[in-house]
Amino acid sequence: MNSALRREYLAALGLETWVVRGKSPLPSEAASPDAPAAREAPAPREVPASREVPASREVPAPREVPALRELAPRDSSAAREAGVDWPELRARVAACTRCALCNTRTQTVFGVGNQTADWLIVGEAPGAEEDRQGEPFVGRAGQLLNSMLRAIGLAREQVYIANVLKCRPPGNRDPSPGEAAECLPYLEQQIALLKPKIMLAVGRIAAQNLLRTDVTLGRLRQQVHRFGLSQVPLVVTYHPAYLLRTPTDKRKAWEDLKFAREVCARV
Ligand code: URA
Repeated sequence: MNSALRREYLAALGLETWVVRGKSPLPSEAASPDAPAAREAPAPREVPASREVPASREVPAPREVPALRELAPRDSSAAREAGVDWPELRARVAACTRCALCNTRTQTVFGVGNQTADWLIVGEAPGAEEDRQGEPFVGRAGQLLNSMLRAIGLAREQVYIANVLKCRPPGNRDPSPGEAAECLPYLEQQIALLKPKIMLAVGRIAAQNLLRTDVTLGRLRQQVHRFGLSQVPLVVTYHPAYLLRTPTDKRKAWEDLKFAREVCARV
């Protein structure tokens, strides 16, 4: 991606470029999101050399969580989905009545993207707009998610995007444990078909459900977790809807995205 385009996406993330006065930015400095954002700065100042690691330099291996909270095989529900192909799985999801959300949904929101993608992005559940359109992350949060992905060189069409829940909880309430338990086998089967190199869990709800933990998002970030029996590396970051409300945390999200990119490069 050229530096101008990357700057555009970083600006959408709220990570404006700082440029040494009187100089054009070098590609490696252009996005220097490691420097404080211009918005937070009292006055323009010169950018120190970018702390972004040059491609040629060895990046320390990402931290791995030794005691992985992997998903134990669930009763028979995961097995019920085993061996299906994409069209069959989509049809099963569309016809699902495993929980009461089937009574209030407009339609199921299966997932979207490249079925051979390296990256699987997992959110919480469809919102009102997703319920209407049948596609995950199509509202304002979705636009920010697209920018976040773009900032690490990924087009929305290159990744696969899904949610823990395939149906909208009324009023956008959090998924109940029962709803998540009924729905997760569908995601597990999507993962079995996709075989992603990396999963990016966006938001606390997605992360806690996928990792079966109540550890805070702040403590789950910046670590390599593993998901389920497939042991797919999983990295956690903030939900774009949260970032829209709390733009000051966009910098941390950017750190997470770079971290995930490093992890993916090592798989
Ligand atoms: N938030 C999510 O977690 N998923 C969506 O699809 C939309 C908003």
